Amino acid sequence: MQQFWPQNKRAALSISFDDSRVSQWENGIPILDEYGIKSTFYVMPHVVENHLDAWKSAAANGHEIGNHTVTHPCSGNFTFSRNKALEDYTLARMEEELRGANEAIKVLLGIEPQTFAYPCGQTFVGRGKNTQSYVPLVAKRFLAGRGFNGESANDPTFCDLAQLIGMPGDVQDFALLEKHLDKTLQDGNWLILAAHDVGTERQSISMEALRAIGEYTKIHPELWTDTVANIASYIKQRRDTACRVR
Ligand SMILES: [Zn+2]
Repeated sequence: MQQFWPQNKRAALSISFDDSRVSQWENGIPILDEYGIKSTFYVMPHVVENHLDAWKSAAANGHEIGNHTVTHPCSGNFTFSRNKALEDYTLARMEEELRGANEAIKVLLGIEPQTFAYPCGQTFVGRGKNTQSYVPLVAKRFLAGRGFNGESANDPTFCDLAQLIGMPGDVQDFALLEKHLDKTLQDGNWLILAAHDVGTERQSISMEALRAIGEYTKIHPELWTDTVANIASYIKQRRDTACRVR
C-alpha cells in the first residue's frame, strides 16, 4: 500500500470514552495528559452540566468533545431505555437528539461537536419492515460516527467515516489490547477504542491498562495517537486529494 498516513506514521489510534462519566476526568484524563494523548469524549449535555469546570478544562486541554445524543436512546431490550426505545423512535425524533445535544454542548462548552458515537452502538430506529437506519443523519451532520463492540480496526482507505468501528476498550488487562495494537501497526489501520469508566469496578478500563497504552505509544512513535476528529479529518482530506490526483 502506498503511504497513507502522515510522514513517519504507520497506523493510528484513538481512545474514546462514552457517557461523560466522572471517573473519566477523575482517573482517566490525568493519565492521558501525562502521556500527551488527546482523546475523544462522547458526552450527554445534562451530565456535563453537573461538572462543567472539569469538562471545560478537558476541552481546553485539547481533548475532543463529541455528541452522544441528549437522552442516550438504545434498544428497549435494555430496561434503562424502555421509555426511549429505538424501536419506538422516528428519524425526526433522532434528528432532535443529534441537534439538541449539539446545541446544548455549544451553550455549555462553546464547542460544535464534529463527531458522534452511536449509543449502545445501535444505528436504527423503528422495528421490522419499518426499521430505518439513522446513519445518513449522522453522515449529514458529522465528520464521523463511531460504533461500539466491533471486532476490527478501520482500514483508512476503505472505511465509512459515518460508521467507524469502535473496539471494546473496557478491559482490565493490557495484554489483549496489545495484540490489537500490534496488528493495527502491522496492517496500517486505525484502531478506535471505546471505553466507559476508568479505574472502577464495571464497564471500565483499568488505570494500569490505560497507562500501559501510554507506554506503548511512547515505544511506538510510528503510531499516530489522536482524537477521532483529527484522524477522521486527515483521512477525509487525504482521500479528497487522492481523488483529485486520479
Ligand atoms: Zn453510551
